[in-house]
Amino acid sequence: MPPVDQQTDQQDIYVALGGNLENPLHSFITARKRLARHPSLSVVRSSPVYRTPAIGGPEGQPDYLNAVLELRGNLTAPQLLAVCQQIETDCGRPREQHWGPRTLDLDILFYGEQHCESPQLTLPHPRLQDRHFVLLPLADLRDDLYHPVLKCSVAQLLQRLPPACGIRKLHEQW
Ligand code: AMP
Repeated sequence: MPPVDQQTDQQDIYVALGGNLENPLHSFITARKRLARHPSLSVVRSSPVYRTPAIGGPEGQPDYLNAVLELRGNLTAPQLLAVCQQIETDCGRPREQHWGPRTLDLDILFYGEQHCESPQLTLPHPRLQDRHFVLLPLADLRDDLYHPVLKCSVAQLLQRLPPACGIRKLHEQW
């Protein structure tokens, strides 16, 4: 496996979208357009959009919308992270509050089979296995996707979670 900051061949990339402020679906559509316009990326498929009650963080937050995009591209993973963070900023994401409400959160779940661990970038995403709102839309796209660290598929990760509570599919297409 080449170092994470070295240019690679085209990779299958999975990016999670989340948001619970100011019309998150609109932010998702903007983010998808921005990613599709990037010369080194293409958007292959979009999962359905799910609606989930907020877990943790301040009391009384609005529900979250969540989805996953499948991309192909040959940016390096740090370059893709920078692109995602610029899109978050342009969509008006306030960054003050950890776990706080947000217009748009973009997390890189998988970047091919790359594996790295640093505070700036951990791949696969370190908490994806804990979250129905990530695993359900991801499984809609690729339930056979293999987690190179946990050494099991997305479908198996979902089976390990307790039953989902309060999450529902909102839009099949968007
Ligand atoms: P969050 O507030 O959950 O969006 O976390 C953002 C922080 O997580 C940023 O400082 C990123 O550099 C860092 N980070 C680490 N790994 C990842 C990843 N796989 N995708 C997105 N952000 C990541």
